[in-house]
Amino acid sequence: MTQAPYEQAGAALDKGGVELQRYSHAVMGTYGTPLRVLERGEGSYVWDADGNKYLDLLGGIAVNTLGHGHPAWVAALTKQAQTLVHTSNFFATVPQIELAEKLLEISHAPTGSRVFFSNSGTEANEAAFKMARRTGKGTIIALEGSFHGRTMGALAMTHKLAIREPFEPMPSGVIFVPAGDVEALRTAATEAGDDLAAIILEPIQGEAGVRPLTHGFMAAARIFSARHDALLIMDEVQTGIARTGAWFAHQLQGVTPDVMTLAKGLGGGFPLGAVIAFGDRAGSLLGKGDHGTTFGGNALGAAVALATLNAIEDEGLLANVKTVGEHFRASLGAIEGVKEIRGEGLLIGIGLDEPISAQATAAAIEAGFIINPPTPDTIRLAPSLNLSLAEADTFIAWFAHYMQAPAAEESAVEVVEESAEESAVEESAEESPVEVVEDPAQDASEAVTEESAVETVDGTESVKDSAGGETTP
Ligand code: PLP
Repeated sequence: MTQAPYEQAGAALDKGGVELQRYSHAVMGTYGTPLRVLERGEGSYVWDADGNKYLDLLGGIAVNTLGHGHPAWVAALTKQAQTLVHTSNFFATVPQIELAEKLLEISHAPTGSRVFFSNSGTEANEAAFKMARRTGKGTIIALEGSFHGRTMGALAMTHKLAIREPFEPMPSGVIFVPAGDVEALRTAATEAGDDLAAIILEPIQGEAGVRPLTHGFMAAARIFSARHDALLIMDEVQTGIARTGAWFAHQLQGVTPDVMTLAKGLGGGFPLGAVIAFGDRAGSLLGKGDHGTTFGGNALGAAVALATLNAIEDEGLLANVKTVGEHFRASLGAIEGVKEIRGEGLLIGIGLDEPISAQATAAAIEAGFIINPPTPDTIRLAPSLNLSLAEADTFIAWFAHYMQAPAAEESAVEVVEESAEESAVEESAEESPVEVVEDPAQDASEAVTEESAVETVDGTESVKDSAGGETTP
């Protein structure tokens, strides 16, 4: 075996540096260089291989619903692991049945609704794509700025050309309209006519920089899909599972989908996705032999997801999401250099006056905070739903100080050799010059360009004439 060169320019690397070299030799380079090697977590904090502590305000990109090591989550995992882990889908298990029932309950799905379990968000969207195909029609309308995943069907519905083009040809039939443009949606739906199989949207476009659709646009999508007997698919992979202060973001808008896709926060860290088909028609589009996956909804994942949903209820996390989200919004929105705060609950996009989100993210991690720059002028926060106000305040204080003198000094990286806890609100931390780096994380390649990050348009006027009862909030 080749011995990795565990040094750099003659200097010995710290433990994290050594692990990163091992990573680069053994793991495919799809995510670029990881920011840190993380070793453990507790609540909303994580520690890296060199013992530095970070407040995790990204939550594994909206995944770690209850934070790390939550007792109920760990207990459910342990108990189920000792009882029954996996059976194949030739068999049913009680946790799987209970989870499906729970999801139907919290999504207020009508009689005849059904759940399909996948392992990830992209696979949930893949199943939704196949449901659209099973309508017997060929056109799917997706939105500019959309992100639905990396497998071929989900990728075909994802807008960013740079991540689709290298893998063409895509599955056919997907067209894109500007997010928020009701007239463009109406035109596309009318032109597709009887061939319109589905409209797919994210109530808040997370990867595009946390950009919410307006009620008017979502209502229009509901009307046009109903008019053409097409499915309205809502991708709530990022916005679902209490992230916005409602169980699902569409509930805030009062616009009900025919199909909803979920993943990320559902398992609270366990890889699990789901498709909820609302009503008997959508619920029976995929029949025996039409779709399947080995691991989807196995007993272990289902038990852990159930524990996650129950903890959200038992611990009043919907209310906490609203309280902490509002606090973030009010405090961060008042900081100079912040143009606007977008999103709902604990899915927050900090819109900046200047394109400095990558520098801010690099400075933040040096100061002990994990945040994320989905676009050059947006910082995204998607922390655990049980984040406390006091924890939020440590970041707000650091960020306010940082924004007084953002790392405009584009000189060499100065590594702050201290625990993150000590440095979190320390006077000088944000003055440390940081290297301006391209976001090396998964999301970097999902960042939209200025052109595709469209402003949402309130289309209420345009849909008044045809607004049906189901679209009113
Ligand atoms: N849909 C949305 C809205 C997402 O944000 C993501 C991931 O970021 C996906 C789908 C893909 O999910 P996964 O990475 O679990 O495949």
